[in-house]
Amino acid sequence: MIRTECLIEAFRDTGVRKRLRISRRDRVRAVTCFDPPKSCTRCPRLAGFRRENRTLYPDFHNAPVGLWGDRDAPLLIVGLAPGLKGANRTGRPFTGDASGALLFASLLRIGFASRNNAQSGGGGTMSLHNCAITNAVACVPPKNRPTAQELSNCRPYLAAQLKAPEVVLALGRVAQEAVLKVSGQKPCEYPFGHGAAYRIGAQILICSFHPSRYNVATKRINEAMMDEVLMLCKKKLEAVQAGPSAE
Ligand code: SF4
Repeated sequence: MIRTECLIEAFRDTGVRKRLRISRRDRVRAVTCFDPPKSCTRCPRLAGFRRENRTLYPDFHNAPVGLWGDRDAPLLIVGLAPGLKGANRTGRPFTGDASGALLFASLLRIGFASRNNAQSGGGGTMSLHNCAITNAVACVPPKNRPTAQELSNCRPYLAAQLKAPEVVLALGRVAQEAVLKVSGQKPCEYPFGHGAAYRIGAQILICSFHPSRYNVATKRINEAMMDEVLMLCKKKLEAVQAGPSAE
């Protein structure tokens, strides 16, 4: 049986598709593939960067970083991309760097996460409740900057991950645009702002500044602002689950 992760690559090549006689059902499974394959080469620049990092940091994860949390979680948090020494090291979104420290502390305070062992750093023993975390681009990009083409290449995975949640929290403008593009919306019609909330079809999209070290240092975001936006997510989630009249 052909593995689903191989299919997403094969599906894009008509010759391969014909030779392998990939059925329509398998094609559907392929395009709804949740996490990218470890060896994904759709972005040559990022695949090359992963190879370089395997030499430089052989103990790191150095592969695409998939969604963390329950695939059916009602809240999905979408960041930009793995950090070189954060998610690219640990293999889990936002785990192990300054962005994660701010986000996880806030998730704990608002009740979207719990941790059994407070001594453990980087969210090591944390479990998420009613929420999952992913990135618009699954591979670490040089200088934290994915190109428009790389965002587009990784969109099928994000699209699959966006099917379940009722509320989506986009961390940063690029993540917001990535989510809007999956829904076929024009980003210019949904201005970015911290705490901005939009109904997009059956989902609610909430925007926040990214909790990056740079944004914290420049005072664009702080603990209180992160708490505020996660509390807004919680309220929207409760309202959606209570029914249309409560929204
Ligand atoms: S960013 Fe996504 S599409 Fe590009 S190589 Fe990594 S997993 Fe593949």
